[in-house]
Amino acid sequence: MLRLDDVSVRFDGPAGRAALDGVDLDVAEHETVCVLGPSGSGKSTLLRVVAGLQAPDTGRVLLAEHDQRGVPAHKRGVGLMFQDHQLFPQRDAGANVAFGLRMHHVPRAEQDARVRELLDLVGLPGAARRAVASLSGGEQQRVALARALAPRPRLLMLDEPLGQLDRSLRERLVVELRALFGELGTTVLAVTHDQGEAFALADRVVVMREGRIAQSGTPLDVWQRPADAFVARFLGFDN
Ligand code: ATP
Ligand code: MG
Repeated sequence: MLRLDDVSVRFDGPAGRAALDGVDLDVAEHETVCVLGPSGSGKSTLLRVVAGLQAPDTGRVLLAEHDQRGVPAHKRGVGLMFQDHQLFPQRDAGANVAFGLRMHHVPRAEQDARVRELLDLVGLPGAARRAVASLSGGEQQRVALARALAPRPRLLMLDEPLGQLDRSLRERLVVELRALFGELGTTVLAVTHDQGEAFALADRVVVMREGRIAQSGTPLDVWQRPADAFVARFLGFDN
């Protein structure tokens, strides 16, 4: 469903290493892949390249076998929840969640039903009329998650979707999200730095280091057989 073929991204500035350095990655239909790695290892850049918000300097991005070069973000059928969520603060939560649905011409009655259903799912029942600016950081994060889910994209990409939430809410949402992804058949590429979350959510875990993939495997594989000392240290220190 998604293939990255030797993708590199180099930002201007003092000659340093690339943000992405020859990344090859395959994500199968219906698969949930979680990307782990230290700060600055290229996780967000990877999502932005797939979403069409950052052009790769080299390599190709394929979605359903189609080369995405020149395909604008809104035509890729890909949902992205940003690390810093980027909601419309003056609009209410419902309008934020419905945003993508209006763009996709979903009928009004169905929009309202889906908004309610998703706000329930993320633990914010009845919040549709609350202004986003009046919600806490964690509540805003949940609105952003509902907004990303609403259009039911074929590929959903989440950048630290549960980062600001407390552990009990995270644990509940991980279980519910996994069920929802299964039900909708969504393919998911999610960044997290919470190993427990990655291991609970993912069919496959990808560990990044300095713009490269250090290891890719099932959670059990990566946990039991880290590819090198870096992965072992990363997994060990992070908990
Ligand atoms: P974090 O866990 O802190 O979110 P990350 O793994 O998501 O980190 P990226 O945001 O992908 O890391 O950044 C990878 C590298 O590219 C970093 O060294 C970062 O400073 C650099 N970088 C990212 N975006 C830009 C940009 N717009 N301009 C210049 N450099 C950038
Ligand atoms: Mg990031």
